[in-house]
Amino acid sequence: MSRLARTHGLTDVQREILSTVREFVDKEILPVATELEHRDEYPQDIVDGLRELGLFGLTIPEEYGGLGESLLTYALCVEEIARGWMSVSGIINTHFIVAYMLKQHGTREQKEFFLPRMAAGDVRGAFSMSEPALGSDVSAITSRAVRDGDEYVLTGQKMWLTNGGTSSLVAVLVRSDEGHPEGTAPHRSMTTFLVEKEPGFGEVRPGLTIPGKIDKMGYKGVDTTELIMDGLRVPADRVLGGATGRGFYQMMDGVEVGRVNVAARGCGVAQRAFELGVRYAQQRQAFGRQIAQHQAIQFKLAEMATKVEAAHAMMVNAARKKDSGERNDLEAGMAKYLASEYCKEVVEDAFRIHGGYGFSKEYEIERLYREAPMLLIGEGTAEIQKMIIGRRLLEEYRFQG
Ligand SMILES: Cc1cc2nc3c(=O)[nH]c(=O)nc-3n(C[C@H](O)[C@H](O)[C@H](O)COP(=O)(O)OP(=O)(O)OC[C@H]3O[C@@H](n4cnc5c(N)ncnc54)[C@H](O)[C@@H]3O)c2cc1C
Repeated sequence: MSRLARTHGLTDVQREILSTVREFVDKEILPVATELEHRDEYPQDIVDGLRELGLFGLTIPEEYGGLGESLLTYALCVEEIARGWMSVSGIINTHFIVAYMLKQHGTREQKEFFLPRMAAGDVRGAFSMSEPALGSDVSAITSRAVRDGDEYVLTGQKMWLTNGGTSSLVAVLVRSDEGHPEGTAPHRSMTTFLVEKEPGFGEVRPGLTIPGKIDKMGYKGVDTTELIMDGLRVPADRVLGGATGRGFYQMMDGVEVGRVNVAARGCGVAQRAFELGVRYAQQRQAFGRQIAQHQAIQFKLAEMATKVEAAHAMMVNAARKKDSGERNDLEAGMAKYLASEYCKEVVEDAFRIHGGYGFSKEYEIERLYREAPMLLIGEGTAEIQKMIIGRRLLEEYRFQG
């Protein structure tokens, strides 16, 4: 166990889960991650292993067949997994967000229908807000749902679905004007639909096409796709929570726990980068001594370790705040912002420590260097986090004069 990023006050159960996950990461993920990533290959064996460990049901309540664990336990598992390979944490993350949204906002029937199969990993979740013309500005969504008897007809194009191909349940946010008169605020006329589909590519259900994988610079192995709805018919009982007009809030709630998750990924990737940097610094010689003995490199290691420690503390704080039932948008925004920026910086320092070898695909740091930037974008860019943080600060520190 590393000296860095320790978490105090964990229960025996949490400690046991984390040590099992760490062992799995060391034995089953780290040895194969870089090779699979270079081939952009879906890590089926790893996913099967995570399923056996029960990770797809980690936070799903026990009454629905899950382990009923907290956001903190989940985030710490994600940190461990991302230390092994960030893409694997991406595979479970959208599933976790959809399960969370169902748990928080679903009708009893929806929970009973989906959650037990999600806990078993038989149904796997993806979530879809972004469109080709928008990501940050969710209120500008143009995909539409129109009521037709007991069904809704969905039309529009979605973008950037993590697990778009491999999932069988997609939470899709669209505009549904039914019951919301002209002039309704944009975020009040949005609805989340629970769309079931076959995993795979092409027309996966009448009216629903997943065209293929988007070719990315990093974050490979996990599929990222578009989603095209052309007259897709969805029964009215697949409106999340049973009432239209609540989708924006449901998605924002999901994204908020997702932010803690992205922070945890940043922590995991940064930890791995530090491990690689501190090891290489003691192997490489320059000017007659280990490069670790040059003060400039020691300073880099000191800065990297401090950032790893700080990001972990903020991520844990944000998760604990949510688990205590308190609003955590400020803490989640800060943790996501700081952990993703620090992750990028720690990875870059580890890359520099590797000299020319960091540029070679033979060295793991090359993969991390291509993966870290995704964390600056996913679940809201740095600018969006700063907007959330700034607004909340002005609420908290309102000038009373
Ligand atoms: C690999 C990957 C996986 C993804 N997975 C998913 C997924 O599963 N589901 C999903 O719905 N989406 C997903 N996304 C989409 C992601 O959430 C968006 O890319 C992200 O929110 C940014 O949106 P955008 O790309 O449209 O950028 P834009 O919103 O167009 O932003 C472009 C730039 O402008 C800045 N900007 C925008 N508005 C403002 C403002 N008001 N003030 C200052 N600066 C601003 C942004 O910070 C950014 O720097 C994924 C993206 C990637 C790359």
